[in-house]
Amino acid sequence: MKTYHIITIGCQMNKSDSERLASILEKNGYRKTDNKYKADLITVNTCGVRQMAEDRIYGLIPEIKRKNKKAKIILTGCLVNRKDVRRRLEKYVDIWMMITEMTNDKFPMTNQCQISNVKYQNDYLKIVPKYESKFSAYVPIGNGCDNFCSYCVVPYARGREVYRLAKDIVDEAKNLVNRGYKEIILIAQNVNSYKSGKIDFADLLKQLDNIKGDFWLRFITSHPKDMSDKLIKTIAGSKNICRHIHLPVQAGDDKVLNKMNRQYARIDYIKLVKKVRQDLNDQFPIFNDQKNTKLKIQNLWKQPVAITTDIIVGFPGETKKQFDNSAKLMKEVKFDLAYIVRYSPRPGTAAFKMADNVTKLEKKRREEKLMEILRKTALDNNKKYIGKIVKVLVEGKDKRGKLFGSTETAKVVKISNAPCNDKLIGEFADVKIIKVMDFGLEWEIA
Ligand code: SAH
Ligand code: SF4
Repeated sequence: MKTYHIITIGCQMNKSDSERLASILEKNGYRKTDNKYKADLITVNTCGVRQMAEDRIYGLIPEIKRKNKKAKIILTGCLVNRKDVRRRLEKYVDIWMMITEMTNDKFPMTNQCQISNVKYQNDYLKIVPKYESKFSAYVPIGNGCDNFCSYCVVPYARGREVYRLAKDIVDEAKNLVNRGYKEIILIAQNVNSYKSGKIDFADLLKQLDNIKGDFWLRFITSHPKDMSDKLIKTIAGSKNICRHIHLPVQAGDDKVLNKMNRQYARIDYIKLVKKVRQDLNDQFPIFNDQKNTKLKIQNLWKQPVAITTDIIVGFPGETKKQFDNSAKLMKEVKFDLAYIVRYSPRPGTAAFKMADNVTKLEKKRREEKLMEILRKTALDNNKKYIGKIVKVLVEGKDKRGKLFGSTETAKVVKISNAPCNDKLIGEFADVKIIKVMDFGLEWEIA
């Protein structure tokens, strides 16, 4: 039997695409191996969002080809159509395949017979994935992006927005919940731009929230410009939707936001966060366990909604003053978590033509400054958890063999005392928080 190995770099969308690829390969008789030097087929699912992610493949692919000469190497993902990447790796890569092509004749490893009833070119999201986890699943609701932020390669790499039918999404989620999955994570480049006929993202969430069962519903990523009142109200009134909104701001200065083509101003973002906090914090906590509703209201603490973000430092032309506006915004909003990244010029984007004139050292300094603010606001937010009982989804064991999980507000919670029970992995547990850090919480078994 032939074997395959998939290497995934980048975002949740890539991880989910790799799960579909694995499913197609297994349907066609391939078996998974963890050893990339022994596999017959190696797929590298690439990311082109930043130079650092891109650079990983330049060492990796030639090394695999050297040590595993008989293997066929497939390159897919966001870098597949970059001419310079093709030139650089043409000696090592056997097949260049867009992810949407995984079932057609570009990809001779599959015989297509089991899957011929679907037009996959636009509809590859219909492929039922081989989910990596037994209790938490990514469910893509669409692919592509129409926004063309000036720094971003996604609209070029993944094409225009295409969304799945609501019925298909609800069916997939229902099936997962019936199989005992505890967490459904909806993914798309901008989940809240979702549109399918008359159904918008809020309508879709409502349908998913009505699925019977004890599960959490999450979604990433939301674009601030599409965060409608209807959507906020829907989240506030839901049973299963987690009180966590990932809302990338990217910059805190109007001129920079404008040059980034983000389509909102600093004040719009601040007002939006206030509204989200107000509307979501006014509601009851999640208690979808019908029998124990009373008990849960008494015992479980109502966690304030968590707001997390992505923010870029050192965008072309970003002055010290403009950067200070990002720092001020972070102090004002008090994020629970932020992915702070240094601007990385991407070939083909509008910003690539602007001079990348903030030095490496200055980008590093700006990144550190924002990190310092984040540590403080995250710790302040986490302090509210001390002594409280919260529901966590237990996700696994860390290197020291201790259990960890997440709250609905996406805070990582570690158990501080041993021993721990493996049976808890993949289950919900109500735990008491005894210690907090800037990026995490700790609980102990009573
Ligand atoms: N659709 C999401 C983001 C998708 S890309 C949104 O609109 O916010 C994921 C993250 O990568 C972005 O939020 C941004 O912070 C980062 N990113 C994208 N292009 C980048 C670039 N050229 N340099 C640095 N970071 C970048
Ligand atoms: Fe990239 Fe902007 Fe689209 Fe997000 S909204 S994927 S940052 S172009």
